Amino acid sequence: MTAQQLIQQLNRDKRLTKEEWIFLIEHRDARTAEELFALARSIQLRHFGNKIYTRGLIEFTNYCKNDCYYCGIRRSNQSAQRYRLTDEQILECCKTGYALGFRTFVLQGGEDGYFTDERMVELIGWIKKNHPDCAITLSLGERSYDSYRRMYEAGADRYLLRHETADESHYERLHPPRLSLKNRKECLYNLKEIGYQTGTGFMVGSPGQTAECLAEDMLFIRELNPQMVGIGPFVPHHETPFAAEPGGTVELTLYMLGLLRVMLPNVLLPATTALGTIDPKGREKGILAGANVVMPNLSPTGVRKKYELYDNKICTGDEAAECRQCLAGRMRSIGYELVIDRGDYRENKD
Ligand code: SAM
Repeated sequence: MTAQQLIQQLNRDKRLTKEEWIFLIEHRDARTAEELFALARSIQLRHFGNKIYTRGLIEFTNYCKNDCYYCGIRRSNQSAQRYRLTDEQILECCKTGYALGFRTFVLQGGEDGYFTDERMVELIGWIKKNHPDCAITLSLGERSYDSYRRMYEAGADRYLLRHETADESHYERLHPPRLSLKNRKECLYNLKEIGYQTGTGFMVGSPGQTAECLAEDMLFIRELNPQMVGIGPFVPHHETPFAAEPGGTVELTLYMLGLLRVMLPNVLLPATTALGTIDPKGREKGILAGANVVMPNLSPTGVRKKYELYDNKICTGDEAAECRQCLAGRMRSIGYELVIDRGDYRENKD
């Protein structure tokens, strides 16, 4: 069996065994990747045309009680300048975003105890009242079933919670002991059960990651069957235990994006900011490998540098105030078009 034949098999059956995934990842080469991207693009075009969905990302707090070894806003990073946006600031971001054409707002933050269920329910209610035609995506980390349910009932539509890695021992390499893969997965199943359009994902090239870990990721994603998958390269942050570790590559990230598109034809798949950070054309390349979503930054420019998950994060300067226009131009340059649309998940046409 060759890598090319396995890609055809994946296209047909939408699943592979762990051994097949490992083979496909370990035996990739430039020619296989080009063939994979052509197939992934044909699937992307069949499901979405040349339309790219946008999500306005509002990084509303960088306080975090967790201490993930890879993350720049981990609790132990004493040099992070902590901030929290007020409700008024968040609503202002939504208002600006709406005028620019965003119909999905992503509220992302560290696990910040200040944002209790009561506060989140109120905030979600305000956003929905002001923008009833918009979707709200939350990305606030691990919470209880009841908390997820209350926020869903308040009007939140989607939730992003990357599983980070589906390999137990790798999970322990990336996180302190109080965090567990078991709980992370349970949260994801709870989110799906409640009714959220649910997103998971992983970093590519995180310290200690092997082809076997990536195979586990693909098996877990197949099993969860999420509506969204967010993957991007691991990028080191100088104030973390992984400061001196090598980052993930564009090449492997693109390959994994292509495989995801073939496995889950209608999944919502962003070309991430991290990919745009390690390669000036990273997001364009991500789209050409099968991604169909971009997530421009809508946070007030004054706080963008403070939400520094990794070094050299793009779009943090004043000149980047209007990320949507910049991305619209980038997408046009490769034949794609940003649309004004909520960009909800749609069931498979196949
Ligand atoms: N606290 C929430 C959570 O845990 O899902 C959301 C915020 S968290 C900072 C968002 C994502 O950033 C994580 O899921 C992780 O994959 C990514 N991330 C953190 N540090 C990173 C790094 N050094 N390189 C690339 N991605 C990183």
